[in-house]
Amino acid sequence: MCSVGDSFGVEIDTEVRQYECNNCGKTFKSLGSAVSCPKCYSKDVKQVD
Ligand SMILES: [Zn+2]
Repeated sequence: MCSVGDSFGVEIDTEVRQYECNNCGKTFKSLGSAVSCPKCYSKDVKQVD
């Protein structure tokens, strides 16, 4: 049982972030890297804080 130190440090991009659509202006929350607007399905979105 000498696996100490290797059980963390794994970063999975599952953090929910706030996005705003540049096309229709809708704000929504999503996760991952392939984000598209749930209203107009545009991929022209930006991350906001
Ligand atoms: Zn949109």
